[in-house]
Amino acid sequence: MVRIDSSEKLCEEELQEAALILKNGGLVAFPTETVYGLGANALDEKAAGKIYAAKGRPSDNPLIAHISSIEELEPLVTEIPDVGRRLAEAFWPGPLTMVFPKSSRVPYGTTGGLDTVAVRMPQIAVARRLIALAGVPIAAPSANLSGRPSPTTAQHVWQDLAGRIEMILDGGPVGIGVESTIVDVSGRTLTLLRPGAVTLEMLENAVGHVEVDPAMKGEPNPAVRPKAPGMKYRHYAPRAKMTLVDGETGAVVREIRRRVEEQTMAGRRVGVICTEETKESYPQGILRCVGTRSREETIAHNLFAVLREFDDLQVDAIYSESFSESHLGYAIMNRMMKAAGYQRIHAE
Ligand code: AMP
Ligand code: MG
Repeated sequence: MVRIDSSEKLCEEELQEAALILKNGGLVAFPTETVYGLGANALDEKAAGKIYAAKGRPSDNPLIAHISSIEELEPLVTEIPDVGRRLAEAFWPGPLTMVFPKSSRVPYGTTGGLDTVAVRMPQIAVARRLIALAGVPIAAPSANLSGRPSPTTAQHVWQDLAGRIEMILDGGPVGIGVESTIVDVSGRTLTLLRPGAVTLEMLENAVGHVEVDPAMKGEPNPAVRPKAPGMKYRHYAPRAKMTLVDGETGAVVREIRRRVEEQTMAGRRVGVICTEETKESYPQGILRCVGTRSREETIAHNLFAVLREFDDLQVDAIYSESFSESHLGYAIMNRMMKAAGYQRIHAE
C-alpha cells in the first residue's frame, strides 16, 4: 500500500510507478471521488480478466472504462449522441458513467460480451493523472471482493484484496461514498441504469426527461433483466440479515426499538443504523450513526463503512432507518435496499 495525497498535490513518483504496473497489464487500486476503483488496462483483455479473478466477479458483469480527458472518448465508441455530449459537458469530470455503442478497440472481455461500453471521466486529479500516465483507458470496477460493500478507504481495499493485486494507492477516504450514476445514451431514449451523486433531478434539469430502467424499480425479477448487468447481483451485502424500516420518524424509532429489544432478549447481537437526529432514541443495540438527515451527502459518505463495520462486529441482525427516495436519497436507498436483500417493513 502506497500513501498518496489525493488533493491537487500529485505524487508524481508513486503515480508513475502505478502507471507502469497498469501499462504492463497489472492491477492497481486507486481512489476516485465515488469509491476506490480496481484498475487495469481496459484495452487489454487479459489485464481486464485479472480484475474478474481478483474480485471473484461474474464474467458477464461489464467494467467501466475510465478516461482522463474528453479526447479519449472518441476511440472507444462508434458514436457520441448529442445527449451524451451535453451530459459530458455538464457533469464530466464527475460521478456520471455513460453507456455508448463500443468501437472494435474495446475488447468483449472488458464489456462482459456487450456491444456497448460504459465510460466515465473521474473528478479527482490523482485518478485522472494516473490514467493519463498509463496512456490507456482504465477499466475500474469498485475495488472490493464481489458481493461486499464498495470500499471507501484504502483499508477497505486492503481487507478484501491484499495479496491479490500489485498496488493500492491510499488517497484517504473518498468524498462521495456511493458509486457513479449510470445512464445509457446508446438507445433512442436516455435511461438511468443506476442512481448516484449526479441525481435524476440534475440529469433532467440538464437534458429533459430521463427514463428509469424498469429493473431498478423494486425487487429483482427474473422476467425483467436490468440493462446494467451488475444491478442483478445481491450487492453491498453485510453478512447479517438487514431490515429497512420506513414510515414517519417517530414510528420508525419505536418499531426498531421494539425489535431490538425482542432480539436482544433472545440473546442476539443487533446493529442499528441511525442518524444524528435519532441517535439518542435507542437505549439498546449496537448503534452506528450514518450521518445527518439535514445533509444526505454525509449518509452516502458513511454508508458502506458502516455496513463493513457491522461485519467486523459480527452482529446477527441489522435494523436501519430509511431515507427519502429523491435526490441523493435515491442512490442511498438503492444501495440500502440491495444490502437488505429488499427486506423492508413499514412502521405505523
Ligand atoms: P462497478 O464498477 O463495480 O460499480 O460496476 C459497474 C457497473 O456498471 C455494473 O453495474 C455494470 O453492470 C455496469 N455497466 C458496465 N458496463 C456496462 C454496459 N456496457 N452496459 C450497461 N451497464 C454497464
Ligand atoms: Mg462494484
